[in-house]
Amino acid sequence: MVQQPPLPTQATCLLFVGAARRPSFVVENCRVRLKELAPSEVLVRVRLAGLCASDVRRFISEDAHDECALVPGHEAVGDVIASRRPGIEVGVRVVFSSSNWCSTCEWCRRGAHVACENVTKYGHPPLASLSESELGGTLSSHVLLRAGTAVCPVPTSVSDGHALLASCALATVLAGVLRLTTCHMPMLLLDRNKMAGEDAAATAESAEGESRTKPTALVQGCGLVGVLACAVLSEMGFRVFCEDFNVSRLRLASKFHAQPVFREAGPLTPSASLPERVDAVVVAIGSRLDYSDPYPSPPLLQGQLLRPGGALLLLGQPRYSAFGKGATLEAADIYGRDLCVIGASEYEPDHLKDAVQFLESTEGKFPYSELLSPVYPLSDFQNALTSALERKFLRVVVRPMY
Ligand SMILES: [Zn+2]
Ligand SMILES: [Zn+2]
Repeated sequence: MVQQPPLPTQATCLLFVGAARRPSFVVENCRVRLKELAPSEVLVRVRLAGLCASDVRRFISEDAHDECALVPGHEAVGDVIASRRPGIEVGVRVVFSSSNWCSTCEWCRRGAHVACENVTKYGHPPLASLSESELGGTLSSHVLLRAGTAVCPVPTSVSDGHALLASCALATVLAGVLRLTTCHMPMLLLDRNKMAGEDAAATAESAEGESRTKPTALVQGCGLVGVLACAVLSEMGFRVFCEDFNVSRLRLASKFHAQPVFREAGPLTPSASLPERVDAVVVAIGSRLDYSDPYPSPPLLQGQLLRPGGALLLLGQPRYSAFGKGATLEAADIYGRDLCVIGASEYEPDHLKDAVQFLESTEGKFPYSELLSPVYPLSDFQNALTSALERKFLRVVVRPMY
């Protein structure tokens, strides 16, 4: 049934006005010119929004492209207040994909949405540019979900804060790891039921001998994407190791069932010892905020760690120079050692549902709340931004105003 309650006439948005401007943002009450929803559109009142590294970059960018005024933000959980999407009713709490796919190009029709020729992203022009719509970014009281956006109801057992993790970081991790297991390492594939609930990993772990036969993965970089990759890989049956220059992040990753490998182990940092060869290396150095950090060259790229026939999974959107000098994977390595290389910076619509299911099935198992900052009201956005730049928390959470 088509539902059309009266649409709001006002929204409170964070307007980014250009990194060079002081201040670079204002919080504004905007008039909403929306008269009615188009077919399949959904209007959401935002409960919480996440401040992703790509949003934060905009505020410190020196790129002239980052000067256009817009409403940033592509991660949110909210309540549906109007809907013309069959199956998505008013009153339902939802998360939604950070991208809006056209659904009509050749790639979308073939189910390869990552290659969509007309994709737009929430919080980026033109979806969030003021001339197009004032409801195109999630740092706002309301956001208008277009017809090509995946929308997924959130079960009551998943809190607002945890749900925030689904639509950007976790869906991308699942897209990458599922490709790793289904396409390239099918012998590792544990079916989605196991991923969704039963603890295959724990069962295998109970016998030391079996534990040794589990596939191994090394996650490099323990930002949000890396930590969630540890959780997903361990649920998929991997024995997971992790590396990062930041000791507190390594400790956090250990709560997501990875064994930290400390570069300089000491009494307070007992380090796991890496096997001589691992089945998969997952590079998750996604944040451009990591630029200034002296990140060590991933050992894999020096040809040491990945076993012949193993897979390299590059997750997120790294800046390659962050890898350091000499850290280039040579074509000869890929041939000579039968390597498989997978890049995953985006995901398909179904991965959003997978992400929500993963959160639901692992509630209580992983301390997701430890990934999140305290909630900042939109009126205190300066402190939210400062907190994001200080990087004490892996995801800064903002509550819009109504
Ligand atoms: Zn994001
Ligand atoms: Zn398309």
